[in-house]
Amino acid sequence: MNNQITLLPGDGIGPEVVAEAQKVLNAVSEKFSVDFSYETGLAGGIAIDETGNPLPEETLGKCLNSRGVLLGAVGGPKWSDPTAKVRPEQGLLQLRKSLGVFANIRPVKVFSALAEASPLKADRVENVDIVFVRELTGGIYFGTPQGREDVAEGRSGFDTMRYNEMEIRRVLHVAFKLAQQRSKKVTSVDKANVLATMRVWREVATEVSQEYPDVEYEDILVDAMAMYLINRPGDFDVVVTGNMFGDILSDEASMITGSLGMLPSASLGEEGSVGLFEPIHGSAPDIAGQGIANPLATILSTAMMLRSSFGLNDAAVAVETAVDQVLADGYRSADIAKAGEDSVGTQQMGDLVVERILL
Ligand code: NAD
Repeated sequence: MNNQITLLPGDGIGPEVVAEAQKVLNAVSEKFSVDFSYETGLAGGIAIDETGNPLPEETLGKCLNSRGVLLGAVGGPKWSDPTAKVRPEQGLLQLRKSLGVFANIRPVKVFSALAEASPLKADRVENVDIVFVRELTGGIYFGTPQGREDVAEGRSGFDTMRYNEMEIRRVLHVAFKLAQQRSKKVTSVDKANVLATMRVWREVATEVSQEYPDVEYEDILVDAMAMYLINRPGDFDVVVTGNMFGDILSDEASMITGSLGMLPSASLGEEGSVGLFEPIHGSAPDIAGQGIANPLATILSTAMMLRSSFGLNDAAVAVETAVDQVLADGYRSADIAKAGEDSVGTQQMGDLVVERILL
């Protein structure tokens, strides 16, 4: 059995948080007697510096040969010139495309120990445990024609929103299957009152829902959903939507938790294909190299990898429980500590999680 994990530390705090995630994977190996083999690859700005390419062939080859890919983060001021021909983000898009990952899964869970970090009132966020499923490879971000032209009225830009039935159906199945393992409710978000693409989306979503009679189904317009996420976020279980709406709503929802450093993600393709796992935060250049980054989002991303790529549900639960316990025991990295509260550094946070896994 191929147990290879490819690590792509990337830029900024990426290497710091990925190192802690690897410590956690080593603890899982020990506790659950599984062997992982690791390959490390260059990706992002560091890959541009060393090879001129944000996703060198060698890196892509390693990723395609593995069960799961764990990415830290890519990018930073050094490579942020928007007119540059080669940019770190291109490597990430290329990687998603090459792996065929069409569903981006983002859990948004409020840890009870951190409820007060939410900008929303504590009683509203207490039970928040949502998983967003965002379609990742279609919709307006990829539709053609796309471009700009000069018209009589001045400059003009255009994009195309397009979804076909196959693309909608496969991401809806991911959402319903996830819901079956959770609270059995799927909310599909669209804009069927205005957009033809979204009327097809709703039709197909409704058809797929009939294949899952055990799962409650509802559809909600995207503008209403933007409001509901603030005034009743505890009502949702799995939320599935297209690429652009998912991009915006999942970022909105991430704010409910009050900490970017806590949120993991997975990007998945067809069953059995290589998954890509990464924290939702970026490379945090403002704190890179200081040893204070919060590694928990990356550690929780490894839990998602253990569950989806390796089928190691017990190990995933052990990692998630260890993170819960570290927080319940009062440990905080600087980003989640209250003013005046002591904080622990990146490595100590990793060690605290490892200790609890090995207990
Ligand atoms: P960011 O997520 O890197 O940082 C936003 C703020 O959150 C910063 O103040 C940062 O210090 C803090 N922060 C983020 N992660 C943290 C952590 N784990 N622990 C403690 N604090 C944390 O977003 P940004 O500043 O907008 O972007 C910085 C760079 O990252 C840019 O080059 C951007 O393009 C890139 N980026 C990459 C990805 C990715 O690799 N998937 C995602 C988003 C942004």
